[in-house]
Amino acid sequence: MPVTYATSSAAAPAVQPLGPALRRGFALRCPCCGKGRIFRGYLKVRPFCETCGLELQLQRADDAPPYFTILIVGHIVIPGMLILQQQADPPAWLQYAIWLPLALLLTVILLPRVKGALIGLQWARAMHGFGGEPGETAGQGLPPGAP
Ligand SMILES: [Zn+2]
Repeated sequence: MPVTYATSSAAAPAVQPLGPALRRGFALRCPCCGKGRIFRGYLKVRPFCETCGLELQLQRADDAPPYFTILIVGHIVIPGMLILQQQADPPAWLQYAIWLPLALLLTVILLPRVKGALIGLQWARAMHGFGGEPGETAGQGLPPGAP
């Protein structure tokens, strides 16, 4: 049985500008309209944007947000800890008192923002579920029963 692949540009999903999508996602807003909220809890993604109807449940961020959050927080906390150790040689309890709460705080603040930015990336580049089927407009799925 022959296998056919879609090679025409007409079948390729639409690609959106990356910068605004990343910024809107980082601000916890819908990457499409920038107004609706992405999450309905701390990290629970809304099924649809409450403003424009973009189907947000198509996102597949999976383990990427914690990975990038650890990467960012580690690159802030570890150099700071090493520089402080080299410059002032503080006692261990002071290092723990400074860097553990800072690492926790940065993680709590950054994790949903990184996840939002990754959802924006996926939407802007028509990745995963946002790509849709050939011939379908990327990321413009409306909720069932929407006008
Ligand atoms: Zn929206």
